[in-house]
Amino acid sequence: MGIAKADRKLMREINNMHVLQLIRVNGPISRPDLAEQTGLGLSTISNIVGELLENRLIRDVGEGDSSGGRRPSLLDINESARYTFGVKIGPGNVWVALFDLRIRPVDVEELSFPPTASPDVVLSETTAVIERLRKKHRIPRRDVLGIGVSTSGLIDAESGTCVYSPILKWEHIPIKQILGQSSKLDVMVENDVNAFAYGMLLHEPNMSIKNMICITTGPGVGAGIILDRSLYRGSRGGAGEFGHMSIDQHGPLCSCGRQGCLEVLASDQFLLARARELVSSGQSSILQMMSEDKDLSPTSLLFAAESGDEGVRDIYRELGRNLGCGVANLINLFDPDKIVIGGEGAVAANFFIETTREIAYKYSFPHLADHVEIVVDDGSEDVWLQGAAALVVEEFFKVPFAS
Ligand SMILES: [Zn+2]
Repeated sequence: MGIAKADRKLMREINNMHVLQLIRVNGPISRPDLAEQTGLGLSTISNIVGELLENRLIRDVGEGDSSGGRRPSLLDINESARYTFGVKIGPGNVWVALFDLRIRPVDVEELSFPPTASPDVVLSETTAVIERLRKKHRIPRRDVLGIGVSTSGLIDAESGTCVYSPILKWEHIPIKQILGQSSKLDVMVENDVNAFAYGMLLHEPNMSIKNMICITTGPGVGAGIILDRSLYRGSRGGAGEFGHMSIDQHGPLCSCGRQGCLEVLASDQFLLARARELVSSGQSSILQMMSEDKDLSPTSLLFAAESGDEGVRDIYRELGRNLGCGVANLINLFDPDKIVIGGEGAVAANFFIETTREIAYKYSFPHLADHVEIVVDDGSEDVWLQGAAALVVEEFFKVPFAS
């Protein structure tokens, strides 16, 4: 009897979630349409809808069109019923954003830290911002689904630990445990490029795009892999270590100890190394002038390229070729519909995207790249935060035992 009762409870939960998902994706929608799409009886639908209305997860939004007779009332998701926080931890900065149930931003704050700030300080100040935003918008803790955190490096999503992040210089930091204890909220931790890829999927209006790879360039090189509209993490969360794909076994040494990784051939490190060579050979008067005042940075290189410095433009084209080589390998491996190039380095994409495309198409298996779109992201932080929050929201909407 106990088992049968548990089964009934589970069936009800599955049906409730199924109906909630349908309302979320297809709303506003009427009860008869829900019955038709789920195959459940109208009275079962009415019971489920009653429960969802009582929990404020959905709301009545008025009457729809009718082909005759009484017009059916329409139901839609109640976006202010639950909230989620998205957090992005970067070197020296943390962004905290509050999202509604439709994953639309409600509020956002940015925190700055000295590079030497300890993980404890960074995480306790992050909790303080979360609390401040929650109180500012008068949201009870029970209405918060959780916190989605995105950070660089190898992440153990199960335990929510940052196993190793060379960019943050963090090792074995139990982010989920620390933030969970201080905020008393559920926490999910995800690699930042994965969160970016998931955020890009949310913004992808074309539902026929099923397989998408989002690449980031800048301080490092990474990739988030979306297969069949789901995030692919690999067995240990390490999938997408695109930056350590070697494209030249005799190339320069990488921080990982191997040679010719994309991380040394298509990141800021590559740009700056080539720029220093250009300065010492006396071939760039603009960079020469800029390097007299202060150390060269990716921003000064972009300025030089925009000012028409052909030597610097050549460096970007070379970076584009290296990146294109990696992209060709991704196309051959995953046969994706779309490749997005983002991250801090994408601000200079005008100077390298053409060579990236050219090499990617040239070195892909014949006909495989014919339909692959290679596009550049505009670089807003929102996508990264939205992706992190979306992972928490998806978990909430997941039908029990569906995957
Ligand atoms: Zn490497």
